[in-house]
Parts: sequence; C-alpha cells; structure tokens
Amino acid sequence: MRMDPEQNGEKDTTLDLDSEPESPLTPPADLLEPLGHYEWTFCDHSRKKIVPPPDVMRKFSEQRNSPVLLECRIPRMTEDMARNMLRSFVHSKCCYGNRAAEELVIQELKQQTFYRYRLETFNETRLSEWNFEPYTNNLVDGPQNGSSPRLWDINVQGPLMFQEDTKKCRVPHSSLVKECHKCHGRGRYKCSGCHGAGRMRCVTCSGAKHKTKHQKHQKHQKRCQMCSGTGRKRCSTCSGRGNKTCATCQGEKKLLHFIQLLITWKNNVYEFISEHQSKFPRELLSKAIGENIFKDENTLVYPLVGFPYPEISLASQRAIAEHNAAFTSTSRILQQRQTIELIPVTEVHYQYAGKTYLYYVYGMENKVHALDYPERYCCGCTII
Ligand SMILES: [Zn+2]
Ligand SMILES: [Zn+2]
Ligand SMILES: [Zn+2]
Repeated sequence: MRMDPEQNGEKDTTLDLDSEPESPLTPPADLLEPLGHYEWTFCDHSRKKIVPPPDVMRKFSEQRNSPVLLECRIPRMTEDMARNMLRSFVHSKCCYGNRAAEELVIQELKQQTFYRYRLETFNETRLSEWNFEPYTNNLVDGPQNGSSPRLWDINVQGPLMFQEDTKKCRVPHSSLVKECHKCHGRGRYKCSGCHGAGRMRCVTCSGAKHKTKHQKHQKHQKRCQMCSGTGRKRCSTCSGRGNKTCATCQGEKKLLHFIQLLITWKNNVYEFISEHQSKFPRELLSKAIGENIFKDENTLVYPLVGFPYPEISLASQRAIAEHNAAFTSTSRILQQRQTIELIPVTEVHYQYAGKTYLYYVYGMENKVHALDYPERYCCGCTII
C-alpha cells in the first residue's frame, strides 16, 4: 500500500505497480511470473515488437487479496444510514413527499459489491490535408527551404496525459502560391444576380413600370413605387456594381496552398463491470464513484494475472488486446492506465402503507436510486 496524494480524494488503498516491494499488500517476488505468450506490436513507422519487461508481470496473491478482504474496504450500510440517504434524496426533489421516508419500515438491506475495471488508452492521431488561404504577400515557406518532415517527425507540444485536445498546424516547407481557381486570378467575378448589369427587373411590377389595381370593378394603372416607374431596380446581390469580390481569394487573386496537420488527442475508455443478479441499472454504475483498489499506469500496460475474480483478469486481457489492435496501426498510444474499483450497491427493501417497495443506495458517495417511491407528485418539473 502506498500513500498517493495525487489521487484526488481517493483513499490510500490503491495497489500501485511501482510500489515498494516491502509494502504488505504487494505480492512477494516469487509470485511474479512472466506471461511469456503476450507480445504486442507497436506501429511507429519502423515496426517493433515490445515484450513486457519482467518487472510489470504481476500476479495477485490469492491469500492476501481475497474478495472478502478487498470488500472489507467498503463501509457497511446500516438502517440509519440508508434512511438518512433516502431523507436527503427526497428533500432534494421538489415533488417527492417526505412522509414515506420518515414512516417506512425497512425490512431488509442487501449489500453487494460490483467490480469496475477500466482501461484508458490516451492516443494521438495525425492527419494531413491540403488547405489554402488568400495570399497576402507573406513569406512563402515552400520546398526551396528544404523537404517537408514526415508527419510524426513534426514537433508539437501535446496536452497533459489523458486530457483530450485538438491542434492544427502548417507542415513546414509545404507552402506554394497559385492563381485563384475560382476567379482565375481576376479577384472579382461577374454578379450572378444581374449577370454583370448592376440592375435587375423590378420584382414588384415585373418590369411593367406600373401596377394594376382593381377598384370598384374598374382597373386603375398606378406608377410602380418600388422602381419609381423605371421597371428596373439596383441589384441587391452586388449593390449595383455588376461584379463581386471573389470570396475564395478575398480579392487577392492568388492563394497560398499548404499542407495542414490535424492532431487529435483522445482518451479511449474500455469498461467492464462484474456481473450480478441485481436489476440495478448498469449506466448508474458507470457514473458512480468507486473505491480504487488497483492502479497501473504506463506507456503500455499488460494484462492482469490471477486477480481473485477471473472475469476481471479476462476483461483486462480483452481490453488491452482490443485497444492495442485498434490504436497502434492508425495512431500512437501515449499512455495507458488500468484501474479496478469497488462500487457498493445496497438494496433497501421496505414497507409503507401496507405495500412493499425498493430503493438503492450506491457508490462511495451514497447516491439514492428510488424509482417506485410512493409519494411523488407532479408539479410540472421534469422528474429525473
Ligand atoms: Zn448584381
Ligand atoms: Zn417596379
Ligand atoms: Zn479568387
């Protein structure tokens, strides 16, 4: 066990791979054995195989990390706690009455512990595409300054690990100047609204210069006011100029073409939650705060071996194989982190007004999930 003040608010119960060998919860050296059959390929222009170094081979000590011992870290839920959680939950809802919370009779508390395994893979993707902008007599960094570096050889300052971001930059020596393809180097083009005339037929009188009005079964001709009786109006598209500034080159006649590098940093999460009989919604388990019991962070992490629940070891193998297959060929893995957390869920069965109900208290933050709470009134708000 190691004190790790960096982990925000987490208790110091995290098993860390780089913890001191003397620490009581770390498996003794003879339990560390090579995995042997796991080899990862890592695409980095030159392909190379990375075999896990022996110090990251980790086998859990089954005696010391038995499920019973691990789950001891979760405080026991008492009737008083369960009732208090429901009270404050009901209090926070504008349309829940609090009488049931005060008067209900708790019949049974069923506490369960879910294991949540997560693998986070922080990767960087680089894409390049041709781009252009109006050329305004700037210096042109073209091939005359040397050949462009390969995409992965361009030095770009990335964000902190596991913080997603995107960045665009110009590939050095990739610029060249060309005539604008839209206006063929003229900077302006003929207005499509008036075909260059600057004036258009008046839409109000359709060019007839006057309007016909029907009054008392008689026709009256009246001079069109929209065009002052000329039948024509100034073109609104070009404000009467007959031509328009080219939007592509913004009138500069030339374009600067260059290769743009688009870099994306993404944190990809694989999550596995242990199976249970409980009908508790899985999506709430994803969001709940867990008690961290294991953390392993490195450029590449390796599958867990011998965790007391084989399904967690299997999830770790599956997650690492999936992520490495998905992210090594098209991107670069910068850092990986795998964690195991415990999430307590207590089923609270209770009776109120002769009927039985159920609510859950879950997560280390003791959140309440109560779908069938008997006293709910609609006050026009959205019931969450
Ligand atoms: Zn026009
Ligand atoms: Zn008119
Ligand atoms: Zn143009």
